[in-house]
Amino acid sequence: MDPQRSPLLELKGNIELKRPLIKAPSRLPLSGSRLKRRPDQMEDGLEPEKKRTRVLGATTKITTSRPRVPPLTAVPQTQGQSTAQKVSKKTGPRCSTTIATVLKNQKPVPAVPVQKPGTVPPLVGGKKPSKRPAWDLKGQLCDVNAELKRCRERTQTLDQENQQLQDQLRDAQEQTKALGTERRTLEGQLATVQAQAEQGQQELKKLRARIVELEERLSTQEGLVQELQKNQVELQEERRGLTSQLEEKERRLRTSEAALSSSQAEVASLRQETAAQAALLTEREERLYGLEMERRRLHNQLQELKGNIRVFCRVRPVLPGEPTPPPGLLLFPSGPGGPSDPPTRLSLSRSDERRGTLSGAPVPPTRHDFSFDRVFPPGSRQDEVFEEIAMLVQSALDGYPVCIFAYGQTGSGKTFTMEGGPGGDPQLEGLIPRALRHLFSVAQELSGQGWTYSFVASYVEIYNETVRDLLATGTRKGQGGECEIRHARPGSEELTVTNARYVPVSCEKEVEALLHLARQNRAVARTAQNERSSRSHSVFQLQISGEHSSRGLQCGAPLSLVDLAGSERLDPGLAFGPGERERLRETQAINSSLSTLGLVIMALSNKESHVPYRNSKLTYLLQNSLGGSAKMLMFVNISPLEENVSESLNSLRFASKVNQCVIGTAQANRK
Ligand code: ADP
Ligand code: MG
Repeated sequence: MDPQRSPLLELKGNIELKRPLIKAPSRLPLSGSRLKRRPDQMEDGLEPEKKRTRVLGATTKITTSRPRVPPLTAVPQTQGQSTAQKVSKKTGPRCSTTIATVLKNQKPVPAVPVQKPGTVPPLVGGKKPSKRPAWDLKGQLCDVNAELKRCRERTQTLDQENQQLQDQLRDAQEQTKALGTERRTLEGQLATVQAQAEQGQQELKKLRARIVELEERLSTQEGLVQELQKNQVELQEERRGLTSQLEEKERRLRTSEAALSSSQAEVASLRQETAAQAALLTEREERLYGLEMERRRLHNQLQELKGNIRVFCRVRPVLPGEPTPPPGLLLFPSGPGGPSDPPTRLSLSRSDERRGTLSGAPVPPTRHDFSFDRVFPPGSRQDEVFEEIAMLVQSALDGYPVCIFAYGQTGSGKTFTMEGGPGGDPQLEGLIPRALRHLFSVAQELSGQGWTYSFVASYVEIYNETVRDLLATGTRKGQGGECEIRHARPGSEELTVTNARYVPVSCEKEVEALLHLARQNRAVARTAQNERSSRSHSVFQLQISGEHSSRGLQCGAPLSLVDLAGSERLDPGLAFGPGERERLRETQAINSSLSTLGLVIMALSNKESHVPYRNSKLTYLLQNSLGGSAKMLMFVNISPLEENVSESLNSLRFASKVNQCVIGTAQANRK
């Protein structure tokens, strides 16, 4: 036992042993170095307890070994133990040991106490008892009291220390508690931080992925940017080009604007001029209209002076293969004005073989002189012929009915004159196409004066007093179903042919097509009946209607172009066979209709009350073209051949008769 170490220090050591924080290092500062004990110090701490136990055991043994001294307590062992414990609680083991020693010392004790080896009583071995003699009880008491006093002071000090330690303990516990709280807080914070860190990691991961994605996008965008830059360069190029174009256009625009403004000024002045000219034009139109009316009047007068019925004689040339006629057969004496005058006279010489002379000398040919409005010798061209009738045709536009006939024996050139020569040669075009072309062109001119014209064509043939449509198409083509001549409307003088086509025409081409169709229809008929075309009258009619809407004028008249049947006479003595008999009937029909035509003209000329129009289909159909207001022209076609002299003479005689007729004064059909 360390004599320097007091029991209170041992107690303090025990208390320190029980400190819960002795093993847990704390950051908190601990007061006193006693709390920081090393393991060897801890050993010291435990040691006093063991020693105390041994001391108590020794005491007991001492007590039992000395029967003279009553035990400190008469209580049983257990009670004695508890009392000792109580004492030890108050004073500590050392103090109780000391008290026990003092009590033992009050009684006489053997000089040499029985002592077991290893068990030395604490006080027995001390110096004090040895210093005071046993009988010096007072001294001993003084020592004990002094010792007690020291012990008390020591106890007090220890209590204070204890108190301090307890305070420290409390502080430490509080600190512990605070530290625990802090630890929990920190643990919580740590968990939060860890969670945050984890979240941060995840976010970091996401951000990395995002970075990768953004990098990819960036590279794409960079590619796009490069492309766009390229485009931009191209666009800039284009823009530069367009800018230069724009500048050029602006320059042109400025030029144009300048030109426009000058043009506008010009337009304004031109407008003024135009207005002035329009006024002048109106005035001139008025004048022109007056002049046109005057022209028509004069034209009509001229036609009247020329005669409302005129006769032209045309002699066809000798055709290849035909015998040359004897010289002097046909002569064309010059007019009073000499050879420059258009011929109007014709002399036909015929030698009459039946007439013999008494002397037997050859009979001189009989010369027959004829005079007509115009004579066309064999070399005359189609256009020359048309020139002579152009003015007459134009009368139809002024509202005068016009009728042109071709009269003569078969083969004398009637069809050639009216329709034209073969092969579609424009030089050989006949009167019908030329007349229509002329009408269309004059109508066009007159449209400038406010006239509007329309034309409707029809083409029929009259054979053996039956009428047949030459413009028939489809199933009727070539058959020419029965046609009848009727009044267009009840009470109307206008005549129309039933079942015949009336075709509106406005140009040459349409007329050509109609003539072509008529030729086809005639050709079909020709195969059925030999040369019927020569034995029939072909009547081309054009109904002309004109209107001047602003002046409320209307006019209308028919233009009739008639290719008459051959006028040759058949010798009745030759009509024996059935074919000849048929031919005779045809000829009689033709002769009848031609004589009726002559009679009608005569009746009109003589102003007879009855005009036998109805005696033939031909005159009936031409009724409106032959009346008082009509203008009529007859071509008498003559063959140049000697063999045809007789027929030529007949034709010339008929024509002469017609030529002597004067049919009233022509009246325009005006409304
Ligand atoms: P018609 O009709 O009177 O029977 P055509 O007109 O058929 O006679 O004429 C008979 C022939 O004479 C035709 O071959 C025709 O071409 C020809 N011919 C008639 N007149 C002339 C003429 N002026 N010039 C040339 N040839 C003509
Ligand atoms: Mg003919």
